[in-house]
Amino acid sequence: MILDTKVKSSDLTIFKDKKSIEREGYLPINYGNNFIDENDEIKLFTELELEDDLLSVIIKIDFSYKRICVRCLSPSSNNVVNELSSKVNIYGENDYEIGHNDEYFDLEPIISELIIDKMQNNFICDIKCKGLCAYCGNNLTKKACNCEEKNLKESPFSSLSQLDL
Ligand SMILES: [Zn+2]
Ligand SMILES: [Zn+2]
Repeated sequence: MILDTKVKSSDLTIFKDKKSIEREGYLPINYGNNFIDENDEIKLFTELELEDDLLSVIIKIDFSYKRICVRCLSPSSNNVVNELSSKVNIYGENDYEIGHNDEYFDLEPIISELIIDKMQNNFICDIKCKGLCAYCGNNLTKKACNCEEKNLKESPFSSLSQLDL
């Protein structure tokens, strides 16, 4: 289920009370070698309070995502938490571009930013990961292949490697 990131404006403007929300779901996100799909879960806890034009936002997200090793291209799952507490002027320019109209406030931009903030570019699954064979695509950490050796022999420079320099 897609995470519902919208909060009814009337909950904040009419009741003038602190609004606490707990929700679960996922947001499809692709960022570099990271992604979130329907098998991941985002747990959202938020507390919102509107005072005149200032929206106080406390957000905590606990989520899982997948990152792809840049060497062997295997995806693996990771779980992280990120949080933010801020006051946002909803009529001025705000860093988070919270969308809002008479019906709802949409926290999606903040949540996406908190997620992307924790994603890892250049992720390597293990310091010992040997990556994929450039010739046959075999995962060299799991199984050795002799493509490299074979290619060296066939290369015009192979005689160089036999010189004992
Ligand atoms: Zn790897
Ligand atoms: Zn190979």
